[in-house]
Amino acid sequence: MPDDKILTLNAGSSSIKFALYSANAKLDLELHGQVENIANSANLQVTRSGAEKTSEPIAACDHAAALRTILEVVHSALDGASILAVGHRITHGGPRFAAPRILDEANITTLKTYIPWAPLHQPYNIATVEGAAGIFPDAIQVGCFDTGFHHDHPWHCDVYALPRHYYDQGLRRYGFHGLSYESVLSQLKTQAPDLTRGKLVVAHLGNGASMCAIVAGRSVASTMGFTALDGLAMGTRCGAIDPGVLLYLLETEGMSPEQLSHMLYRESGLLGLSGLSSDMRILESSEIPEARQAIDYFVHRIRTELGALAMTIGGLDGLVFCGGIGENSSQIRARVCHELAWAGINLDARANQKNETRIGKGKVQVLVVRTDEEKIIAQSALRLARR
Ligand code: ADP
Repeated sequence: MPDDKILTLNAGSSSIKFALYSANAKLDLELHGQVENIANSANLQVTRSGAEKTSEPIAACDHAAALRTILEVVHSALDGASILAVGHRITHGGPRFAAPRILDEANITTLKTYIPWAPLHQPYNIATVEGAAGIFPDAIQVGCFDTGFHHDHPWHCDVYALPRHYYDQGLRRYGFHGLSYESVLSQLKTQAPDLTRGKLVVAHLGNGASMCAIVAGRSVASTMGFTALDGLAMGTRCGAIDPGVLLYLLETEGMSPEQLSHMLYRESGLLGLSGLSSDMRILESSEIPEARQAIDYFVHRIRTELGALAMTIGGLDGLVFCGGIGENSSQIRARVCHELAWAGINLDARANQKNETRIGKGKVQVLVVRTDEEKIIAQSALRLARR
C-alpha cells in the first residue's frame, strides 16, 4: 500500500507553488514545482525527487487553469496513494486566526472578509482551497497563516496611533512572511542554536520583502503592518509611505481608490523606481542609472529598518538573510552590511560571495538561510491530519 501524501499549495498573485510529501515523520519530498507568470506566458516547473527540474510553457490564462494543471501533475504522481491533507499558505489570518487550522466553510467565509486586507494574495489563496477541496474531497484542507507568527506582538508594536476603536475593528500591525520566519527559526535550531534563544533580525527579501525582530524565538516587531504594503520597498510594492501622499493623490490628483491601489501594489517599488523591472537580477545587471537608484533605495530602507528593529529589541546577536534576493544576492547583502562594524556586523567577503551559510566574522552572527515555507505548511497539515 503506497504511503499517504501531504500536498502543499502556495498561491501568489502570479504564481502557484506546490509540493508533495510522503506523510511520514520525515516528510520526504517527492515532487515540487510551480506555475509562474499566470495569465502571461505561463510556465510549469516540476522537480521530481532525484531528477532534474523540467520546465515547459503551458496555457494557463488564470489561477483556476494553473491549479488544474498542478493537480493533474500531482494526480499522476500519486500512483494509487491518497492525499491525506492539503496545506495552504493563507496570507491574512486577521485578528482571529493564528495557529494552523482545518478550513471548514465557516472559516473560509471569515477569511474571505480579509480579502481587502491582502488583495494581491488572499483571493487566490481561498480560490486554491476551494479548488483543491473539489478535487480531493476526502483530504482535509489546512490553512497556515502568514500573520500567525506575529500574533503575540507587544501592544505598542501592534498598533497605529489612530483613534482606539480602529484597533478593535482589526486595524493592527499584523506582519507577514510568518511561515518563512518559522522555517528560518527551525533551521537555526541546528545551524546556530544559540540564536534561537537570542536577539535576531531576519530579512526576508523576495518579490515581497519584510524584516522581523525576534527574541527567543518570538516575533516582537515586523516591518509589515495591516497589509503587506508597509515597510521595505518590494518588487512592485511601495513600502512605507507618508499617508499624506495618499491623501494628496486621492484628493488633488483625483485618483480613484482602485487606481491608487493598483499603483501601490503593482506599479511601485523596484519596478516603479527603475522603470525597468521588479526583478533584482535584471536591475543588478543593468547599466541605467534608474536601476542603480532603485537598488540604492531598496538597500537604504533595509538598513533603516535594521537599525529600528535592533533598537526595538535592545541589541542584536544575529542577522539572517532569506528569500530570493537574500539567499542569492551577495551584492545586496554586502551593501546592507557596509560599514556596520560599529554595530558588530562585519561580513566575511569570501563567504558572502560564495553564498555560504555563515557569512559574518564580527560579534553579530550573519547567516544566509534557505527558507522553506512549504515544509512548515506540510508539518502543520500532517499534525492536524494525524490528530
Ligand atoms: P517571491 O516573493 O515571489 O517568493 P522570491 O523569494 O523567489 O520571490 O524572490 C524573487 C526575487 O529574488 C527576484 O527579485 C529575483 O530577481 C531575486 N533573485 C533570485 N535569484 C537572484 C540572484 N541570483 N541574484 C539576485 N537576485 C536574485
